[in-house]
Amino acid sequence: MSLIVIVDDRVTNRNIFAKLAASIEEDVTVQTFGDPDEALVWLEAQSPDLVITDYKMPQMDGAEFIRRFRELPSSVDVPVVVITVYEERSFRLRALEAGATDFLHSPVDHHEFITRARNLLKLHKQQVLLASRASTLERELENSERSRERALRDSRERLAQVIDTLPVMISAAGYDGRLLFVNAYQIAFAGVDPSNVIGENVAGIFGDDHGARSHSLDRMVFETGKPLPSYEEEIVDRHGEAHVFVTTKSPLKDASEVVAGVLTSSLDITARKRTEGHLRHLAHHDPLTDLPNRTLLRERMRRLIARARRGDQPFALHLLDLDGFKAVNDLLGHSTGDRFIKTVGERLRNAIRPDDTLARLGGDEFAILQSQVNSTEDIEEFARRILETVSETSDFEDSGLRTTASIGIAIHPDDGLDGEDLLKNADLAMYRAKAEQGNHFCFYAADMQARARNEALLDGELRRASENNEFVLYYQPQVDLASGEIVGAEALLRWNRPGVGIVGPGVFLPRAEENGLIVPINEWVLREACREAKSWQRMGLRPVRVGVNLSPVQFRKRRMPLLIAQILGETGLDPNRLDLELTESIVVGDFDAVAQDLQQLLDLGVHISIDDFGTGYSSLSYVKKFPVDRLKIDQSFVRNLTTDGNDAAIIRAIVTLGHSLNLSVVAEGVETAEQLARLRAEGCDEVQGYYFGRPMPAADFIAMLRQDPPLAATA
Ligand code: C2E
Ligand code: MG
Ligand code: MG
Repeated sequence: MSLIVIVDDRVTNRNIFAKLAASIEEDVTVQTFGDPDEALVWLEAQSPDLVITDYKMPQMDGAEFIRRFRELPSSVDVPVVVITVYEERSFRLRALEAGATDFLHSPVDHHEFITRARNLLKLHKQQVLLASRASTLERELENSERSRERALRDSRERLAQVIDTLPVMISAAGYDGRLLFVNAYQIAFAGVDPSNVIGENVAGIFGDDHGARSHSLDRMVFETGKPLPSYEEEIVDRHGEAHVFVTTKSPLKDASEVVAGVLTSSLDITARKRTEGHLRHLAHHDPLTDLPNRTLLRERMRRLIARARRGDQPFALHLLDLDGFKAVNDLLGHSTGDRFIKTVGERLRNAIRPDDTLARLGGDEFAILQSQVNSTEDIEEFARRILETVSETSDFEDSGLRTTASIGIAIHPDDGLDGEDLLKNADLAMYRAKAEQGNHFCFYAADMQARARNEALLDGELRRASENNEFVLYYQPQVDLASGEIVGAEALLRWNRPGVGIVGPGVFLPRAEENGLIVPINEWVLREACREAKSWQRMGLRPVRVGVNLSPVQFRKRRMPLLIAQILGETGLDPNRLDLELTESIVVGDFDAVAQDLQQLLDLGVHISIDDFGTGYSSLSYVKKFPVDRLKIDQSFVRNLTTDGNDAAIIRAIVTLGHSLNLSVVAEGVETAEQLARLRAEGCDEVQGYYFGRPMPAADFIAMLRQDPPLAATA
């Protein structure tokens, strides 16, 4: 008989979780609470086997609830699962510190809920059983004063044997992190020499990562004198293979109740994790094509919608239905039909980007989530590519059949705020596309033409702006943290738009990249910035670099090293004073060609920075292969630096990585003295941001350079 307690302020959640919990095994009693305070009062007199709690509740949050629950007698071994929408490490750390055992991500996947809860229940029961066996043994020992000595000796020997043969890693360490005991299983796992282990440092024997984590958690046990609730961790064995363990740590007390060491035991649950992963995969994928199914599509949409609220780009849902599929099935039979669907799935998968999601909804219906869309044209081009991909499967297995598709498109947020609305509206659009005799796509919204018209107007205006020299450059100072001096300026493009005034690049840059005007515009930027910097040199001002942003589009269309060499020659600027800023997206396409261009640029003597570093993916690994000499940490990490531990950790990682590769690290978007102090402490080399100066016309920047002493604020 198990007792499961559920705490959640929303009654629907309580009902769903209670139902799921009741289905875990026979003989489960479920007790639910809407108010964590009430739950705590009730729990004082109870011993539950599992507690499941929401994180965000009006009365107190999940971490506070767990902390107070852990203060109750006999709550120590009870597993507690926290349900949270937050994926940030800081929330998880707070909950872990309060004593959480595990997490479930909200919205909760029912299957995952049941497996997790069942495993934790089992683990807890085993712990209870072990504890009761131990106390029986203790009682027996106490019964006979005479046999006690002998029994103790025997049981110690037996215990030592048992400990050595258990398939569990067991070790003990002292306050200074030196090992007091290690069992045979752990010695074999780590592949170390048993005679060298006792008295050694944990990190020395078990590697820096595992050792350092273990030592700092041991310190917590020493300080509180209490066991830590069990937690999952990944440990790499001597063959370099990662295993998942569930680890517990408890104090070893001497006769006078002083903590003399910490006992650590870790149970290998890799196989269980793998099974869980496999089951999860089955629940989320279509068996025929192994593509995500409707459930996973909905989940991905929920995530994209959550991200969009934080100001990300819109995304498009393409609902696709094959036009000729019935004929394939009827004429060639179902097994050919299945092969055909699989082939279409594979081709579509190759046609989309890694960030997009392709799902099979059943029958001949697929859905594609197109993330990161900048314009209507992006979406149209994508839909056209998909139609083409499908028609390439015509004459499947020499059938002579022509196969096409109809696509309905709904855009978030314009055509629906949630996944259901988007699916419904994309479906309506799809039927309109079908009515056009197939091989056609339709948008749900009717005002697509208006959108396109506005874009065309802006295109025209930009072309004129380029001819009439309506662009200007503003300069933003970059400051060296060690000396406090201005060492550079980033040139930032502005448009002096007739009838409007100065506008920033956000308004027109995406269009210029789209219609190709970015190439001549950015060429002007390069020339103008180099000319300006050369004039600073002539004026005898302090030597400073000028930073110029390059567009990935430009990089793809022009031989950059040639262009740069030419402009340097024309303007007479020392190459060392030019810093080219590139974003990670330039590598999309031909990695080797880009790397070669960059190397040639470095050979010219110019600097190369990766801009907005940390926002692209795989950045940390590929930067090692890239010939660049500076990293610019994106301002989004600086913004919450002093409040979000996660961002601070990312910045630390970027600085460490950069310095280990001999790159200098620049932080952008520094607005406050606190951020500045933190960046200095993390070891950044240079900073840029409103704190030192907003982007300003060249004349103002020159005045700033002339100022002496340079920047008192940074001293
Ligand atoms: P970026 O290269 O990351 O430039 C930094 C942006 O952050 C600039 O926005 C700057 O005004 C802003 N900024 C600087 N310090 C702070 C601060 O303390 N707080 C805040 N909130 N913002 C700060 P801007 O000028 O609007 O430029 C936006 C982006 O447009 C640039 O980002 C760059 O990617 C692009 N861009 C600007 N000029 C050019 C150009 O000539 N060519 C190309 N291809 N792109 C450009
Ligand atoms: Mg930049
Ligand atoms: Mg940037």
